Amino acid sequence: MPPRPLVAGNWKMNGLRANAAEVEKLKRLMAGHGALPCDVLICPPATLVSTVAAAAQGSAILVGGQDCHPKVSGAHTGDVSAAMFADLGCSHIIVGHSERRADHGETSALVAAKAAAVHAAGLAAIICVGETEAERDAGQTLKVVGEQVAQSLPAGALPGNTTIAYEPVWAIGTGRTPTEAEVAEVHGFIRDALHKRFGAAGGEVRILYGGSVKPANAKALMAVNNVDGALVGGASLKADDFWGIIGAYLG
Ligand code: PEP
Repeated sequence: MPPRPLVAGNWKMNGLRANAAEVEKLKRLMAGHGALPCDVLICPPATLVSTVAAAAQGSAILVGGQDCHPKVSGAHTGDVSAAMFADLGCSHIIVGHSERRADHGETSALVAAKAAAVHAAGLAAIICVGETEAERDAGQTLKVVGEQVAQSLPAGALPGNTTIAYEPVWAIGTGRTPTEAEVAEVHGFIRDALHKRFGAAGGEVRILYGGSVKPANAKALMAVNNVDGALVGGASLKADDFWGIIGAYLG
């Protein structure tokens, strides 16, 4: 059986307390529909986790972090640990987003250490992988993604606490998306890697697609083989847009 889909929103460095109104709105939209056939997650900036968690209370909306430090606590000014996100009621933490790999020089080894910290805190890690445009043009997509998957999953990763997000770097925030055949190729390749690592249980790991997912293209992208949901940036900021993407799973 394919995994239950997940539609995850990454607010990035956007949002103030007033944006909790969008969460309240999403909650109303979800309440009007009843039980959903997918999980819904919002990952706001760390400053808003408590606010969003409070706004989401009484709904099925899950709340997560966008990054964490590999250590539990200590002298790491400005960083936030996985245990701290767990303490706020988070269920997931994104690690290895391409913006962190690019802006902060994060290597796959560091991403694996962060994912291990997420697991140690009892949370699920959403591990991001994806090629740059130059890497795709050079025919390196599967090589790059294969290396990122192999090196970013920590030794203790389990199908139940690990989600992969395939996000072509050139599709993030650009309005451009790969073709459905290109998405199918990479997701199938990741699925094979997960089967090699976890055996039959590799089929239980969610593989999200991320990169310019919008209400208009969500249904087609979510229908691609081995796509088990979406990681959504810009279109997760407005409840109506995010709900439109969740709509891909509402028939
Ligand atoms: C992201 O940052 O994870 C993302 C997919 O962004 P966008 O949806 O805006 O392309």
